[in-house]
Amino acid sequence: MADRMLQFVSTPQRTPEKRKADLRREDFDEIYARFTTERAAEQASRCSQCGVPFCQVHCPLNNNIPDWLKLTAEGRLEEAYEVVSATNTFPEVCGRVCPQDRLCEGNCVIEKGFDSVTIGAVEKYITDTAWERGWIKPPKPRHERTESVGIIGAGPAGLACAEVLRKRGWQVTVYDRYDRVGGLMIYGIPNFKLEKDVVLRRHAQYAEAGITFELGVDIGRDISFQALRDKHDAVLIATGVYKARDIQAPGSGLGGIVPALDYLTASNRKGLGDAVADFDSGALDAAGRDVVVIGGGDTAMDCVRTAVRQGAKSVSCLYRRDRANMPGSMREVSNAEEEGVRFLWLNSPEAFVGEGQVTGVRAARMHLGLPDATGRQQVEPIAGSSHTIPAGLVIKALGFDPEDLPAMFDEPGLGVSRWGTLRVDRKTMMTNLPGVFAAGDIVRGASLVVWGIKDGRDAATQIQSYVAAAAAVAAE
Ligand code: FAD
Ligand code: SF4
Ligand code: SF4
Repeated sequence: MADRMLQFVSTPQRTPEKRKADLRREDFDEIYARFTTERAAEQASRCSQCGVPFCQVHCPLNNNIPDWLKLTAEGRLEEAYEVVSATNTFPEVCGRVCPQDRLCEGNCVIEKGFDSVTIGAVEKYITDTAWERGWIKPPKPRHERTESVGIIGAGPAGLACAEVLRKRGWQVTVYDRYDRVGGLMIYGIPNFKLEKDVVLRRHAQYAEAGITFELGVDIGRDISFQALRDKHDAVLIATGVYKARDIQAPGSGLGGIVPALDYLTASNRKGLGDAVADFDSGALDAAGRDVVVIGGGDTAMDCVRTAVRQGAKSVSCLYRRDRANMPGSMREVSNAEEEGVRFLWLNSPEAFVGEGQVTGVRAARMHLGLPDATGRQQVEPIAGSSHTIPAGLVIKALGFDPEDLPAMFDEPGLGVSRWGTLRVDRKTMMTNLPGVFAAGDIVRGASLVVWGIKDGRDAATQIQSYVAAAAAVAAE
């Protein structure tokens, strides 16, 4: 079968078909089509089956990529799905939203001059096919066990942990203050990157497998953290990071200046059919307005592209460094440009203008100076370069910090780093409180879905070892 592989010399890289930009602007559907069976096999066959696969080394889940590419090339899709799902809880999500250019694909080593294997698109194809053909079953255990875990947060980290422990027979309760499961996969990431059915069908399977979900429950407010510790053998904190970084400048209190996550959540809720007062009143709707998004990360890209789809009059992205220094994925920047977003590189906001309601952003042009101690070039304003950009809606996408969990949980002893993230033992993933573990963004700071999955899966194993050891000691 080896002759099926190594086709990169004669077969060019093809990505799944991308819908034309003018059509994409009209709706919130995903922008990439799925590979056909033939195209998936063809693209998988480009892999040269490296002895040391750097794609796998640079995948946070250490996915066995060469094996599932070979199985796909051979048309053995059910086996390919077995391999894909052995290490990944949500391969269909990772195939859609991982920044593959920085992870697996960016490290694919097929010879220089040839483009990488389209690993993410094949992973998505395999898993979407598995869903269609009914190969994905609820993670029901063979035997029930008595141990119980309370998981705070139904994002990728919490759900990954829940699935592993439930499969092993644990009694699993997931608590979330949102009314739906998925964390930022449901209310942060827009539909055009990740359609919501993809997340919701997982929820349905988990409920069928016996995982209990207590939704609309804010731990620390509706149920005390201590009550959770008393109820369960172990607790996992997977609450993510939600405190939006702010910008202090004259006029920052004007109406029409909103945080990115409020804006994106309203849009996602609208798409899910919810009544959203702030959207219906126009406060969080970009339709007909000049929109300025401040920031250069993936959240900023999601905001500009959402505004385009809502029918904004114009959409500009203001970023104080240049394109090469942007933290956001280049693929998303290109998608945004195709959809008509104007990028104002090397521009930094100085003030917001307007009376009561914002009407413009005054910005200074910047230039890149000498690198600082971290090696990053400093930005400095160019004297006399102030100019005003018209804006009826300003969206602040400057990143997120952790909330004050020790205060929220009324647990001053819970150890945090100087950034407010939870401190855990690197090996055991346990916080300084016995039996309390933590995973995902609340430990790493704002990160990626794939890292949340990795942490959640690892935490499940650590929780099981901890509870088994505690039971052994108690039995002595
Ligand atoms: P979250 O997904 O944030 O889930 C935490 C959950 O905990 C939430 O459901 C929250 O309601 C709940 N919670 C918090 N506090 C409490 C409490 N006190 N009581 C009960 N429940 C609580 N990553 C990618 O890989 N690719 C992308 O394209 C991408 N795009 C993104 C776009 C946006 C706009 C944002 C904001 C993030 C994006 N990310 C992306 C990052 C990714 O979504 C996160 O890294 C990931 O979701 C973190 O997972 P988590 O489980 O740690 O936390
Ligand atoms: Fe690549 Fe992400 Fe899939 Fe790993 S999980 S193979 S990084 S797309
Ligand atoms: Fe295949 Fe590229 Fe991975 Fe090598 S690095 S095994 S060619 S996908």
